[in-house]
Amino acid sequence: EQVLNYFEQRCQTSKRMAEQAKHVIPGGVQHNLAFNYPFPLAVTQVSGAHMTDADGNRYIDFLQAGGPTLLGSNYPDVRAKVHALLEECGPVTGLLHEYEIKLAELVCDAMPGVDMLRMMGSGTEAVMGAIRLARAYTGKKRVIKIGGGYHGWSDQMVYGMRLPNTGRMEAIGIPRGATATTQESLPNDLAAIRRKLQWNRLRGGTAAIIVEPFGPESGTRPVTKDFNAQLRRLCDEFDALLIFDEVVTGFRAGMGGAQAYFGVTPDLTILGKCLTGGYPMAGAIGGKREIMMMLVGGIGTTAKRAFVGGTLTANPLSCAAGYFALQEIQRTDAAAKAGRAGDRLRQGLEQIIERLGLPYVAYNMGSIVHLQTSGVMLLDTSNLLKLVRLKNEARQRKHMMEEMGAAYAAHGLITLAGSRIYTSLADTDAVIDDALNRFED
Ligand code: PLP
Repeated sequence: EQVLNYFEQRCQTSKRMAEQAKHVIPGGVQHNLAFNYPFPLAVTQVSGAHMTDADGNRYIDFLQAGGPTLLGSNYPDVRAKVHALLEECGPVTGLLHEYEIKLAELVCDAMPGVDMLRMMGSGTEAVMGAIRLARAYTGKKRVIKIGGGYHGWSDQMVYGMRLPNTGRMEAIGIPRGATATTQESLPNDLAAIRRKLQWNRLRGGTAAIIVEPFGPESGTRPVTKDFNAQLRRLCDEFDALLIFDEVVTGFRAGMGGAQAYFGVTPDLTILGKCLTGGYPMAGAIGGKREIMMMLVGGIGTTAKRAFVGGTLTANPLSCAAGYFALQEIQRTDAAAKAGRAGDRLRQGLEQIIERLGLPYVAYNMGSIVHLQTSGVMLLDTSNLLKLVRLKNEARQRKHMMEEMGAAYAAHGLITLAGSRIYTSLADTDAVIDDALNRFED
């Protein structure tokens, strides 16, 4: 309570703006991530590892907009090039622009599973398109998702999505039929996944398994090192497609994504976030040529087509921003450097947890750092091997991590829901050490 009061006192302008917003914006909150505070912080300036709010408070920004800005926020070189492009041709044409090709070439070169790329409006839309494509290609209907995974908010993918520790469904308004062909299986439970594949064989078949390769919800529920390879084998055995949702891991886990990290090639890859360097609209389906060719339509084609669309998709602004950002990510080795910042932060957090005897666990997969009070974690030196079960007194406290998020903010740290941290190229040792002092406070 004390810390929430402190948060409120520091953020009076944000609070006033949030009250004003309530009249015209449901709940006064538009962005999902802004829900994680007593009221959303009104941001006035972002640069690199820092952001400033309307009250002049300065924060270390570990939210990084939910992950897309691996170079750090508002990266000057990319911004300047995007400006120049806007001067030349504006944000959208509805036809072809050279940066569509340049971006697609770059991604196809970098990612083992991507022979061809189709830009989409968002990660959510890319997932919808990929599932449609999987069904069109295989002629089968069911899709198995790995429990706890977030694949955007389309009807068929919010299946089973419950609010942590409440048993309450996250979404209403979804007809039962919309999720009738979606199934959920727990991460690492290969036997259960096999049973579903067998069951489905007699009932319309399995078009695809969709998984976040670092584990559901960006590694909140980590997977064993060979889980993805096992999924690949199962998909091959049952003639289903393997879809990697690399919206978070794409380029953040390295230019080749999690597929290069694990050495497992999916049939289809979903990209978003880093794909356009933090600029709108971040989403794409990538995949094997033969499957991707099912998107081809228009003059001269008679083949059946899996339809996808979007007025603003593949606009020059998004494609150029993505191309400039990915080139820079490659040139600066941003994924590895942000990963080292993540390692330094996680090591420091572990020391704080140990020193203060907190019921927390900190772990990271490169630049994705988790700070959890509950659950089963898989860790090793590279964080994916040793099984740690955390005794969990904090579990009863439903909103503990959100409250901690507000507490961190009151101490100048912006996180994702108090439990996830995205590091970036802008996180120097000095930034991380400053952050650790604030975490300890
Ligand atoms: N897939 C994953 C793994 C995500 O983390 C997200 C968004 O956070 C999505 C899909 C949805 O992407 P978008 O928010 O661009 O619709």
